[in-house]
Amino acid sequence: MVYYWAANLQKVNCGYNFPLTDWCKAEAYSCTSISLPALLTMKLPFSPVQYTSNPVVSSTLKIWSQFRQTYKLKDFSMLSPLSNNPLFPAGQMDHTYVQWQSTGLAKCSDFYIDNIFSSFNDLRQKFQLTQSDLFRYFQVRHFIQSQSSTFPNLPPTSLMDKILQNPVTPQGQISALYNMILLARNNPIEKIKEKWTKDIGSVIIDEIWDDALKRVNGSTSFTRLSLIQFKVLHCIYYTKSKLSKIYSNVEDSCDRCKSDKADIIHMFWSCQKLNNYWALVFKLKASFIVLNTTPCVENAIFGVPEHGIHLTNNMKNVFAFASLFSRRRILLEWKSKNPLKISMWICDFILFLKLEKIKYLKKGSIQKFYKIWKPMIAYFEKMKTLPSN
Ligand SMILES: [Zn+2]
Repeated sequence: MVYYWAANLQKVNCGYNFPLTDWCKAEAYSCTSISLPALLTMKLPFSPVQYTSNPVVSSTLKIWSQFRQTYKLKDFSMLSPLSNNPLFPAGQMDHTYVQWQSTGLAKCSDFYIDNIFSSFNDLRQKFQLTQSDLFRYFQVRHFIQSQSSTFPNLPPTSLMDKILQNPVTPQGQISALYNMILLARNNPIEKIKEKWTKDIGSVIIDEIWDDALKRVNGSTSFTRLSLIQFKVLHCIYYTKSKLSKIYSNVEDSCDRCKSDKADIIHMFWSCQKLNNYWALVFKLKASFIVLNTTPCVENAIFGVPEHGIHLTNNMKNVFAFASLFSRRRILLEWKSKNPLKISMWICDFILFLKLEKIKYLKKGSIQKFYKIWKPMIAYFEKMKTLPSN
């Protein structure tokens, strides 16, 4: 089956990258006023016969749609062109969008700089636009905003994008596509990412996910604590939701709130009985890091700051270390029916800070310890009593 996909996707890849070759032009000719790349990057589902009367093109689009449905690649792609795109009528009526192609401004992803939707001034400089293009910029921005759930951030590169962007070569093209599909199908890390994306309910951008993977072994030097993060990221902990699938007499509801399903995202983050705990944890972290940060799932689960927050490496390490203790405390009270106490989190943190200090002392780098942890030590020294909740 993978070979069948790869053989057919080779034609899709050529149709996207070389729409001006003779056979692509002949096929594209049947799609009146609509470009083949636009059809290849549209959100599913759509009916190919609505746009073409050519049975060959219709069949290729049908196979491409089947592939995308199988691999859950239904979303609109940022590789979509602006001109002759049925979803963007302005691009069909205004010839300027065709002229923009020669400057390199041809598809939606070209409007992003450093993975963020760019300002008009930055695009103007990069692509030599004129002031009169401002209205077109707003048209494009509105269009992309309506298609992308991650706007203004660039969505992560999907398997679909990788296939479309795969360089066309005279030999080995099908093998390259075959390996790409096989890798995506068998990659357990991608499956875990998919699960978290579904649980969180929004796209995890590549940068955040890469940091999350690094944090499995990069949050602390204590092996047992690293193991906690490994088990969290790989959803290894037994929640009541998981147990209820194994034992029919186990209910899947959360012991704390007694209402929602106790799956892993609920146990660590979304349970309403954890709201106060997370709010206080973030308030404390914001105090010693001196950063206005709001509770976010990326930090609560993966120990990385939310997208757009820039920290020094030392501060990132502090953030991850502190975040890991939040999850450890939840695990220590996994079966408790009571809300968690922030005072316990502070005690854990201070205890491990002492151990961290011993580690730096033994390595002869106590200066480095103080350089990293000074703001936290100063904060805790000023604290006269532990919070009551
Ligand atoms: Zn709950």
